[in-house]
Amino acid sequence: MQLTGNLLIGQESVFGSNGAIKAVNASTGAAIEPAFGGATLADLDRACALAWTAFDVYRETAPEARAAFLETIAQNILDIGDDLIERCMIESGLPRARLEGERGRTVGQLRMFADVVRNGDFLGVRIDPAQPERKPLPRVDLRLRHVGVGPVAVFGASNFPLAFSVAGGDTASALAAGCPVIVKAHSAHPGTAELVGRAVQKAVKDCGMPEGTFSLLFDSGRDVGQGLVADNRIKAAGFTGSRGGGTALMKIAAARAEPIPVYAEMSSINPVLLFPNALKNRAEGIAKAFVGSLVLGAGQFCTNPGLILAVDGPDLETFIAAASAALNETAAQTMLTPGICKTYQSAVSRAAGHEGVTTAARGVEAKGENQGQSALFVTTADAFRKSHELQEEIFGASSLVVRCPDLATMLALVESLEGQLTSALHIDEADHADARGFLPALERRTGRILVNGFGTGVEVGHAMVHGGPYPSTADGRSTSVGSLAINRFLRPVSYQDLPDALLPDALKTDNPLGLNRRIDGKLQLAK
Ligand code: NAP
Repeated sequence: MQLTGNLLIGQESVFGSNGAIKAVNASTGAAIEPAFGGATLADLDRACALAWTAFDVYRETAPEARAAFLETIAQNILDIGDDLIERCMIESGLPRARLEGERGRTVGQLRMFADVVRNGDFLGVRIDPAQPERKPLPRVDLRLRHVGVGPVAVFGASNFPLAFSVAGGDTASALAAGCPVIVKAHSAHPGTAELVGRAVQKAVKDCGMPEGTFSLLFDSGRDVGQGLVADNRIKAAGFTGSRGGGTALMKIAAARAEPIPVYAEMSSINPVLLFPNALKNRAEGIAKAFVGSLVLGAGQFCTNPGLILAVDGPDLETFIAAASAALNETAAQTMLTPGICKTYQSAVSRAAGHEGVTTAARGVEAKGENQGQSALFVTTADAFRKSHELQEEIFGASSLVVRCPDLATMLALVESLEGQLTSALHIDEADHADARGFLPALERRTGRILVNGFGTGVEVGHAMVHGGPYPSTADGRSTSVGSLAINRFLRPVSYQDLPDALLPDALKTDNPLGLNRRIDGKLQLAK
């Protein structure tokens, strides 16, 4: 499929005149064709105007029509075929199998949200019927449903060029909620973005959705991304990337005349806690599994296990030796962008040079361009407590083991951690009592707590939380993965004493949409 380098503004396809960017071949560092025209502020304005006009029509589309639209996007993405995988491999350096899996996840997410829309529970319908005879005062008729918040700005993530980019989780959940979407493409994978963007644009047309339901902008600088979040027609934003980028957007959103939420997923080191009995019985096995998780995708996962906490002693020595032996064998892998690779290399050099840190192991040295060599460091609880920088995310296959004198110190270190996406406990049955003592501290600062596993591999489902207190995300009350992600882009509206003729279908007395509803607080299932 021929790439044009064009912006997609509603149904328009136009070359942006604000400079141009080219993608870079992640494995060679060479620029690749074609050029992608950067959006001007006039392009941004047109996309926002179209999205605003589309909003009232799109949010009232019937559930079946909206679900079919999401499924059409999924099918159109599959219809691109191998061109999508090949372009994405070049732009991201990620291997075919990973990207084919990621495409499956992307399509699966869209279909899951189609089911969520059809089911209708996301509308959260509640009806408190009028009680005209109530004494001393009659009760009004109150009905509640959720509506989309308005047009949403989505920033594609570099590390998930399909599942968290143009038609990824943020876009799918916003569209499911009834919100038009304007995507600011990540400059690391503009070709992938265009291919997927055209699949969405075509679905808008084929399904008869309003033109402004979707636009895709390329940005040669920061103007368009920041301009989007500042525009008063945008009512929320979804972002995955650096803490610097996320907090810059949060500040802009908070400074607006009408502040809006930015759902930014930023940085997390995902502590792994090794409890004494598990360590005694299974140190080598845990070490091998840990290294497998650490180097997956060159370590470029937000759920990468960046911190190991354990009580010092011979069992921890066995763990460190086995992890080092496994890590020594790991090949250097191509990273997503030269910038990310450079940031990784300097963060690893800084850790290696830290006076309280020793290098336990390095992976096989990088031979090609833009490759990250994995790293394992060890420190003491004392050094970790004194050096806040050791808590900072190193985006790539690097992790730090902290030797704790006892479990009380390990718990104190957990209490000193920032908000996290995941935390993992490795326990045997004899560790249950100790592990229970850690749960309150972990619940306070983690979105997902898991046992005898690692946080990489995020299941897309109904009970998944991929979120966590700041700075892992901007708003720890939400998730960006799973069906609950739709809640970020909804707000409740209550209707008091509206005649049936004026009520939206979701709230009409005879329940034409067949929704489950709470009547006077009691769940009433649709027949
Ligand atoms: P990034 O630099 O934060 O970029 C993400 C997106 O936000 C891009 O579209 C970027 O625009 C835009 N952006 C960044 N800073 C901005 C700002 N100040 N104002 C407006 N827009 C801004 O993230 P990245 O390129 O994906 O990776 C860089 C670093 O982010 C990594 O080294 C890693 O530390 C971190 N990261 C973390 C995660 C995670 O899940 N925790 C995931 C990915 C990256 P451009 O396209 O123009 O650059």
